[in-house]
Amino acid sequence: MLSGKTAVITGAAKGIGRAVAERFAAEGCNIVLNYRSNIDDEVIEKIKSFGVECLPFKADISNFNEAEELIKTAKNTFGNIEVLVNNAGITRDMLAMRMGEDEFDSVINTNLKGTFNTIRFASNIMLKQKSGTIINLSSVVGLIGNAGQANYAASKAGVIGMTKSVARELGSRGITVNAIAPGFIETDMTDVLSDDIKKNMLATIPLKRFGKAEEVAEVAVFLAKNRYITGQVINIDGGMVMN
Ligand code: NAP
Repeated sequence: MLSGKTAVITGAAKGIGRAVAERFAAEGCNIVLNYRSNIDDEVIEKIKSFGVECLPFKADISNFNEAEELIKTAKNTFGNIEVLVNNAGITRDMLAMRMGEDEFDSVINTNLKGTFNTIRFASNIMLKQKSGTIINLSSVVGLIGNAGQANYAASKAGVIGMTKSVARELGSRGITVNAIAPGFIETDMTDVLSDDIKKNMLATIPLKRFGKAEEVAEVAVFLAKNRYITGQVINIDGGMVMN
């Protein structure tokens, strides 16, 4: 079903994005692997080892024009975009009362506007194809908030509102749009947190362990394959948030 199709993954040089790219490669998708600063050859070689094409593309997705180039290049190279995973994201943690304008703007521009930027251009292509899946990385923090993350929580809550709106816009053409809300996943993003914070987090997780990037990637592939789930937020958090 996904074999021979194209998956564009943003921020895929490491962490969850890399795991998602490898998982879609294992399904037979050609991968357009967006990165911002740099990418190891080993990441590209691993994806190619699944027998698919891998096009690394440097772009800052918070930049409207660079996001357009990313999506146009993906379409021009492979002829279709079946899957778009908006994974690129940053944190700039600080209490709201001390937060500077740059900490707020940079997080919103990457996590929220960056997600809009790629959707803006990929949705035109998917509408013409009459097929496609958009998967946006939100966070449990976007659902329940977190002290010190007013900027990040706002961006991830915004991603949920955007997901539901675009799901309504694109549904009539068979295009699904969903969000994944991870809890605490072991990546560079969470590695920087203090042992105290990690210990406190662990106490809130019923499954008593942190999640793995590969487990998030499984959810992304599930959402891409299923054609009757749209506008949903799938929590993958060891039970932190129970709706
Ligand atoms: P990560 O290890 O820090 O990786 C994030 C990736 O995004 C990096 O490769 C980074 O590239 C890239 N990126 C950042 N800004 C970008 C931009 N403007 N344009 C293109 N790429 C950009 O983070 P992660 O833990 O894998 O997180 C992936 C996603 O899941 C994020 O959206 C995050 O908010 C979300 N999430 C993670 C967790 C968790 O516990 N890890 C929980 C909930 C949600 P550079 O290194 O070059 O900057």
